[in-house]
Amino acid sequence: NADAAVHFAKMQGRNNYQFFTTEMNHQASQRLHIETELRKAIKNNEFELFYQPQFDLKNNQLVGCEALIRWQHPEQGLVSPDAFIPLSEETGLIIQVGRWVLQQACMQGAKWISLSQTMVTMSVNVSVRQFRPELVDEVRSALMESGLPPRALVIEITESTLMHDEEATLVLLQELKNIGVQLSLDDFGTGYSSMAYLKRFNLDQLKIDRAFISDLPNDKDDAAITSAIIDVAHHFGLVTVAEGVETPEQVAFLANVGCVEGQGFLYEKPIPVGVFEEKYFA
Ligand code: C2E
Ligand code: MG
Ligand code: MG
Ligand code: MG
Repeated sequence: NADAAVHFAKMQGRNNYQFFTTEMNHQASQRLHIETELRKAIKNNEFELFYQPQFDLKNNQLVGCEALIRWQHPEQGLVSPDAFIPLSEETGLIIQVGRWVLQQACMQGAKWISLSQTMVTMSVNVSVRQFRPELVDEVRSALMESGLPPRALVIEITESTLMHDEEATLVLLQELKNIGVQLSLDDFGTGYSSMAYLKRFNLDQLKIDRAFISDLPNDKDDAAITSAIIDVAHHFGLVTVAEGVETPEQVAFLANVGCVEGQGFLYEKPIPVGVFEEKYFA
């Protein structure tokens, strides 16, 4: 009986092992496949930017928008960034994709400022992998080619970017500030959320992660966290933006605790460029 048990365990182990390697091979080939597709996408211009508006919570005025990438896949249709940005980062393809995003968003921002005759801002997400010395020149070129005023460009980074090699990061952030662009800390509260970051780095804007917004105003813990974040952010002179605003009750709460701007499905989902233009700048 004991022998049978050992034999069974070995069989199990072997099967698990086989299953595991098959699964890994499958994953590896899947990744390779997506990587090949991504290279084709870059070559064939299959990316598109959607735009989500941001509003002043007090007077409901449009203050700017965030550019959010989509992949118009020839067979699969619209693919969301969560499905390809991580792999783009791992493979380094994000460098090329990110450069395109910057150029495209700056062009659009410049056009919208001239259409509306107001200083609407254009926010662009920049991932850890893009956050290297070359980024400074990429930003400078995108601004020059588009004619977008530097103040109108908001570079969104996350806490993971700030954790990474602090000294070099400080230098890079300062160089970006010297160009005149604004810096925003995206998804605040989900990473290490060190309040010390707000003291150490010279940022302009803080985006409170949707995770804290979704159960407002009923969740007392999230209410306390949100208003504490807002107070600290304002102490450091940052503009606060609530992400993922979906209800009027959330707006009421946020406005009451002094949050300045909001972005979310209550106002608008991310929409294609033509739709945005027709709705906000016609
Ligand atoms: P993010 O920068 O935090 O962008 C906000 C995400 O929340 C967007 O998802 C947006 O569609 C979604 N969202 C906005 N309002 C609401 C709401 O009220 N409710 C809910 N449930 N969701 C809302 P999306 O467009 O799928 O983008 C996901 C992430 O992909 C972004 O998170 C960002 O980290 C990354 N990403 C998007 N575009 C780019 C890009 O051009 N470059 C890089 N590096 N990353 C990008
Ligand atoms: Mg963002
Ligand atoms: Mg975010
Ligand atoms: Mg995010």
